[in-house]
Amino acid sequence: MTTLNTFSGSAASLSQFDPQALPVSAAQAIVLQWVTPLAGSERVPLREALARVLAVDVISPIDVPAHDNSAMDGYAFDGAALAAEAQDGALALTIAGKAFAGHPYTGGVTPGACVRIMTGAPMPAGCDTVVPQERVKRVEPTHAGESGSIRFAAREVAPGANRRRKGEDLARGGVALRAGRELRASDIGLLASLGLVEVEVKPRLRVAFFSTGDELRSPGEPLDAGCIYDSNRYTLGAMLRRLNVEAIDLGMVRDEPDALAATLKQAAASADVVLTSGGVSVGEADFTRTQLQTLGDVTFWGLAMRPGRPLAFGRIWSGGRAGVGRPALLFGLPGNPVATMVSFYQIVRPALIAMSGATPPPVPLIPARCEAPIKKRAGRTEFQRGVAERDARGQWCVTPTGSQSSGALSTMSEANCFIVLAHESTDLDAGDAVDVMLFDGLV
Ligand code: AMP
Ligand code: MG
Repeated sequence: MTTLNTFSGSAASLSQFDPQALPVSAAQAIVLQWVTPLAGSERVPLREALARVLAVDVISPIDVPAHDNSAMDGYAFDGAALAAEAQDGALALTIAGKAFAGHPYTGGVTPGACVRIMTGAPMPAGCDTVVPQERVKRVEPTHAGESGSIRFAAREVAPGANRRRKGEDLARGGVALRAGRELRASDIGLLASLGLVEVEVKPRLRVAFFSTGDELRSPGEPLDAGCIYDSNRYTLGAMLRRLNVEAIDLGMVRDEPDALAATLKQAAASADVVLTSGGVSVGEADFTRTQLQTLGDVTFWGLAMRPGRPLAFGRIWSGGRAGVGRPALLFGLPGNPVATMVSFYQIVRPALIAMSGATPPPVPLIPARCEAPIKKRAGRTEFQRGVAERDARGQWCVTPTGSQSSGALSTMSEANCFIVLAHESTDLDAGDAVDVMLFDGLV
């Protein structure tokens, strides 16, 4: 059998672990060592750039905002006038004109004058301070042709107040966003605020996937005796869509070595990463394992993880032999539907993000009170399904879903988090503290 030492780059760190029971944190670290971010880049329109990864730093071509402007509806004036306020603390200013967003006031502002100004309007020359309109008493003109004036308590406004400085959001020539950034909605808006219409992003990662198993039938087909519907290809396809990679569905493959080898080669020829489900245990029909050993420098890992113990990781070549043809990273995921999902989220997902050119962000763990006792053996990390919520006092608490069977997809749907039980932890009593990893995020 190929051993873990075939990974020359990481042999040192691998050699300290049992290759059949690698701790999850070690597996995550080693997988990331194996990842090479995609080379190259392409330009895409801003509207299609969501969740793509920036290939280069974006340098701001302009100042944002482009000019000093008002943060309030009010009156703009020279803040120096505040120092010369009247004895009673009230400052009176005559209104010289108006400035609207998109319609600057271009006239002069003499001492003792101000400009009526709306939010976002450029600050008139000579003005650096805005008094909000609700702070002033407006005095209307008594004769036609005269301008009105305002009075307000000078001590309520500091010089420079309510003014947004030119370039205070983004300065021209500065780095607006760094290469490796996975673009979020705010980033798309930020790039638009710079006037950009296209952005240079990393190529999209291509991920081929297929299911293995003679017992599998596709949804829509009749279910023969002893058969089950192939759900893994659907969860894998859906999880890949969330990551915005190009998902290549290669269908179902029978438990036949030749069929498996042919599909693996085809997958390596067309994708950067290959995901399989099923056939990685040591049963008599588990051919994925043997085929992977032939097609590449792949090592079998039993992870010290539950669910998801069997997991193959390595590289295969489209030419059918290590070093021949195109290489692709390979993850042979376990067949049990929940194990497939847990392995994907914990091991595959960070690797796909890193290959896409971004740094996988740490997934936050929230401390919670566990509402039920949990049996746990030291020496493996467990990801139990749970329902987390905040109690009446605002504290997070979590209840494990009923069955924790690795085949029970219904409990994955019911759950809103993983209860993460650390490698060394043991049995828990109701009321003990645990960490939860929420499924849903805001942006
Ligand atoms: P295996 O890893 O191939 O031994 O499969 C482990 C368990 O997962 C078996 O009960 C399989 O029937 C089931 N299984 C394998 N592949 C799938 C799939 N694509 N969809 C649903 N269940 C599957
Ligand atoms: Mg199978």
